[in-house]
Amino acid sequence: MTLNRRSFMGTAGAAAGLLAAPMLHAQGSGKPRVVVVGGGAGGATAARYIAKDSNGAIDVTLIEPTRAYYTCFFSNLYLGGFRDMDGLGHSYGNLAASYGINVLHDWAIGVDREAKTVTTAGGHTLPYDRLILSPGIDFVDGAVPGWDVSAANAMPHAYKAGSQTELLKAQVESMPQGGVFAMVAPPNPYRCPPGPYERVSMVAHLLKEINPTAKILVADPKESFSKQGLFEEGWEKHYSGMITRVGPDGGADNIAVDPVAMTLSINGEVTNVDVCNVIPAMKAGRIAEIAGITEGNWAPVSAFDMSSRIDPNIHVLGDAAAQGDMPKSGFSANSQAKVCAMAVRGALTGSNVFPARFANTCWSLIDTDDGVKVGATYEATEEKIASTGGFVSQTGETAEVRAATYQESIGWYDGIVADMFG
Ligand code: FAD
Repeated sequence: MTLNRRSFMGTAGAAAGLLAAPMLHAQGSGKPRVVVVGGGAGGATAARYIAKDSNGAIDVTLIEPTRAYYTCFFSNLYLGGFRDMDGLGHSYGNLAASYGINVLHDWAIGVDREAKTVTTAGGHTLPYDRLILSPGIDFVDGAVPGWDVSAANAMPHAYKAGSQTELLKAQVESMPQGGVFAMVAPPNPYRCPPGPYERVSMVAHLLKEINPTAKILVADPKESFSKQGLFEEGWEKHYSGMITRVGPDGGADNIAVDPVAMTLSINGEVTNVDVCNVIPAMKAGRIAEIAGITEGNWAPVSAFDMSSRIDPNIHVLGDAAAQGDMPKSGFSANSQAKVCAMAVRGALTGSNVFPARFANTCWSLIDTDDGVKVGATYEATEEKIASTGGFVSQTGETAEVRAATYQESIGWYDGIVADMFG
């Protein structure tokens, strides 16, 4: 007879009175408890998979302040007029109603790693056996001289979707004819490597319709960027003469903004701008820092189960994690969440755990039906999540291939949202 881990725990171990360490759980609770902080691509997926696959054997609490999650993915398509804002918003009702997840609309403000509790702004203290943090990103203070979050109305970042994205679009629509849209692009590593350049494409698409003499100026501190050849080919084809990108060799590693005067200074040369989209350098969402599990700007994790290298009872998913080769994307966060959910269930209930495998694809829309993609598969190594092979769209592809790539991205969007929220 072959005993799997679960049947061993359920029979021989229990009969001998030898309950192994993984079966221990938060004091006073009838079941092991998992607390998930952040109901985005990583957190919602992890909460749903743990609740769904444990069939009620694990208590899952999801702490998320907003009542509707607006996806950053496809928010650039909203700027371009390909999606409406309502279609980007998703509520948490189904996670509570269909999966029995305790959804708490609150901010996590503290983590006591000794006591294994999370405290919230609403005054709750929640015990956990495992804590999963997927808080996304915050901005590095002082990263763009002249800008801080109090200037985010004059110069929006629109890098957390929702009202910021709506504000940016309204500003683009109100630009004077022939005006200037400027973007300050972020340094590596940051959320969604192709995101700023898809945004440039979508703003150009909108301006081409409503303000064809307008110009786009991108100040970029990086030498190169994701899918650069594909974007530059597309910009030349669809928006010729509209977009200028200045890299570090043109002084874009020395920029400043003035949100009152509405100016952008590149290496001391000051330009008046009508809209300025400032996307500052990023770091892990602040609760990761508060929990004391960051090194530098990010939270280092083991590739095998996304557990923190500083505290194995805490797992970190998505943008906040320093994990190796995966880009910071919704697809990556979702993929990591499923590996983590399996590992956490295994640790708390003895269920089977299979080797970690990850995947990512980042699609971008350049113009109507002109979609491109880059992607890879990954495996866990002692050192990091390591790429095992990848693919990228090619320059010069046919219109049919590009249209099919765009259709793929629409299917992916519906799929990931269903995977997060059920
Ligand atoms: P998020 O999805 O941001 O979720 C974090 C959640 O945590 C938020 O809901 C927040 O409210 C909550 N939170 C934060 N702090 C706390 C706290 N203290 N207590 C409680 N809750 C907290 N990815 C793709 O795969 N494909 C794309 O096409 C794509 N396009 C993008 C376009 C743009 C313009 C941008 C900005 C991003 C894009 N991304 C895309 C990237 C993607 O949105 C992120 O990588 C992904 O959302 C990361 O998931 P996450 O779980 O780490 O964070």
